[in-house]
Amino acid sequence: MFLRKWRDSPWLYFALAGVLLLVAVLSQFERVGGEVPKGRAEDLASLGDREDLNVLFIVIDTLRADRLSAYGYQRQTTPNIDALAARGIRFENVEAQSSWTKASMASLWTGISPEQTGVSRFSHALPDEVSLPAEILQENGFRTAGIWRNGWVANNFGFDRGFDLYYRPTPNRPTNGARSHSPSSHRLVGTDFDATQAGVEFLTGNRDQRFFLYLHYMDVHQYLYNEAAPEYGSSFSDIYDSALHWVDQNVGVLVDSLRADGVLDKTVIVIASDHGEAFFEHGGEGHARNLYWEVQSVPLIVVPPFAIEGGVVVEEPVANLDIWPTVLDLLGLPALSHAEGKSLLPLVLAAAGAGTKPTELEGRTLFAQLDRHWGGRGDGLDEIISLRREPYRFLYSTQEPEAVELFDHSADPGEQENIGQNNPERVAEFSREVEEFLARPKQGWEVPEVELDEMMRAQLRALGYMRTPVEGNEAARKKAEAERAKSGGQWQE
Ligand SMILES: [Zn+2]
Repeated sequence: MFLRKWRDSPWLYFALAGVLLLVAVLSQFERVGGEVPKGRAEDLASLGDREDLNVLFIVIDTLRADRLSAYGYQRQTTPNIDALAARGIRFENVEAQSSWTKASMASLWTGISPEQTGVSRFSHALPDEVSLPAEILQENGFRTAGIWRNGWVANNFGFDRGFDLYYRPTPNRPTNGARSHSPSSHRLVGTDFDATQAGVEFLTGNRDQRFFLYLHYMDVHQYLYNEAAPEYGSSFSDIYDSALHWVDQNVGVLVDSLRADGVLDKTVIVIASDHGEAFFEHGGEGHARNLYWEVQSVPLIVVPPFAIEGGVVVEEPVANLDIWPTVLDLLGLPALSHAEGKSLLPLVLAAAGAGTKPTELEGRTLFAQLDRHWGGRGDGLDEIISLRREPYRFLYSTQEPEAVELFDHSADPGEQENIGQNNPERVAEFSREVEEFLARPKQGWEVPEVELDEMMRAQLRALGYMRTPVEGNEAARKKAEAERAKSGGQWQE
């Protein structure tokens, strides 16, 4: 296939836009199933018996669930991901454990809540005591690679454990036709295609052995898209959608690579995100500042090495904490130590009509945490906790326990009307639950602190405390952009 030829070609970047379009067109013909056998949800339960399965884990940073066409968005932003969801498992209601990358990723990998991992500040690294999926996969014979473009998951924060290869891809050359309209003005050199290209190289080089590849994309975070993606409009929100379409094309290239290498029917693909993005729903743009739905509701798609006709949709709310307990369970591998997250396999089987709904996974209370001083040095805690138990979200500040917010999704999915004042009993009940959650015995792990140089610290301070002014205030927005630009491009939220 032509894919093999262009992969190593030096003129790759110049032909990129055209090639991606062609790939998108070609994949129209193979949308459902592709070159994977048909299967049933029941077959998921016996995947653990197989000795030939690989894992491709794709994190699309800053991806809110409602912007994927797979989740019902009116724009066709994600045709490639939609095709995967159509033959796999799509979780409709997924809660991230924080709205800031490092805290959220620490929980996603370990299955442990942020207040237990203790990873809540810019300088924090993962405690030595936690076990990580890559370690388990490595121990079980997988060749492991992590290719990332967000500095918060860099090696020095401990995220490299268990990976044979763990690196930020080299930005090869300026991307032809790439456009960025990031409101943060941060420039991250290169594009997600650098990661895709490095990923394809790894996949092809390791197609004859078991592999685990983790790719962490950043172009949605960066509002960067390529001219091969549709230009939906000029607002932040429109550009975000264009960036998502571009990243979806990268996902398509990865899937085509798996297909070309003949391993699509041996690979479990997981697509997830660390948090969403606000577009002025609660007065600001961005993330890592609060825990409302727009930064908390993320996608999760798990694609088996076969096609389940019509796919499976799980409505029950689940957490990013559950991702790795689920994947390791599917693969029949040992569980993470200390994980609070649960394997969602019984829920999937129930959703597919192949089992009864397990009560412990029904109507769960899902917590998230953000220390709003994450970018600060030596400041006291400024912690908010989100308690989500449908139809409610309850927000609690440990510094100001009276200043709670309560939303009822059945009447107010956008979390616009705080009904706390009119529901004192509910507020008292949820406050008590949050306090009990916080009073759980701590693991007592030491959270290593990473020394960063003074320039990085200055950048972080500038970034961490930037408040984006509300839409419409052009002068204030420009000033904020200028200040953010001054802080440089090294650190992203
Ligand atoms: Zn992030």
